[in-house]
Order: sequence, then C-alpha cells, then structure tokens
Amino acid sequence: MTEINETCQSCGMPLAAPGDHGTEGDGTPSAYYCRYCYRDGAFVEPDATIETMAARGGEMMSGMFEIPPERAREFVLAQLRPLLRWSGRLVKSCESCGMPLENPEEAGTEADGSANTRYCTHCYREGAFVEPDLTRERMIEHYAPLLASELGMPLEQATAMVTAFTATLPRWR
Ligand SMILES: [Zn+2]
Ligand SMILES: [Zn+2]
Repeated sequence: MTEINETCQSCGMPLAAPGDHGTEGDGTPSAYYCRYCYRDGAFVEPDATIETMAARGGEMMSGMFEIPPERAREFVLAQLRPLLRWSGRLVKSCESCGMPLENPEEAGTEADGSANTRYCTHCYREGAFVEPDLTRERMIEHYAPLLASELGMPLEQATAMVTAFTATLPRWR
C-alpha cells in the first residue's frame, strides 16, 4: 500500500501538489491527510468531529457556490462520511465519476468477471468503459444541471463546481 492518496482523508481537499500533504513526525509527507488537517504526525484539531468539519466546509461551499447553507452542509457531510478519518477505512473513489466504492458490488468488472478496483460499475463493465466516447465536457454538461437542482444553486455555479471536481479525477487528467 505505497499508493499516495489523491484526496485528504479528513477534509476531502484534493492533494494535487506534493506541498498539499501534511507531515508525519519524521517530516515525511502524510499519505492520507492535507497540511491543514495533519502536521508532525498528528491532527491539527484532534477534537474535530465530522459535524464540525461539515459545518465549516458547508459554510465555505455555500459562500463559494451560492448554495443554501443547510444543503451545502448536508452535501459536505455526505462527502466526508466515506473518508478514512470518519469511516475508519480507506474507500477508493471511481477514477471516472468520483463515486466512493464502499461495497464490493459497486466495483467495475473485467472481461473475465473479476473486479476492477479503479472504476465503478456504472462507468466500467466487462473490461471496458460503459461510455467509451464520454468526454469531460459531456460529463460537466450532464452533471451540472443535476447538481444545480439537487443543491438549489445557480447552473453557472454548479458548472464551476463540476468543472473543478472532474479536474481531480484521473480519467480526465
Ligand atoms: Zn484535510
Ligand atoms: Zn464511476
């Protein structure tokens, strides 16, 4: 398990650059957590709960993307739930759509029926992408209106949010 995580497993922030990672006690980068959550081998706020993190994150999302505060908080709470710090286990996300792969039956399948651990069953089945011609632009067009109605936010803001999110997914990089 030397794989470095792409997302902070405490706050969900993408760990894009090496400087985004927190540090272990010996100064090496943390494999799981960002520098805001984890420094010198310990959580910066050891008493933080998923609720306090969701309240803070929700407030930020609400301000950034014009989402009603309560929906923003619930959305962030759902994003935080599968993360290692809160679930106690490392849940991989689909590298195409970002869905957390919490149960084995959510994993994609290879041609021989074995599980593919990189993609979910909606994106990858029997050894191939379900929609091989899908582009990041089409993903954004498809998901932005869904997100806008789910969170009660302007479509323009939802488009910005999905654009930023898809940039973190390995399939589209
Ligand atoms: Zn973090
Ligand atoms: Zn997927």
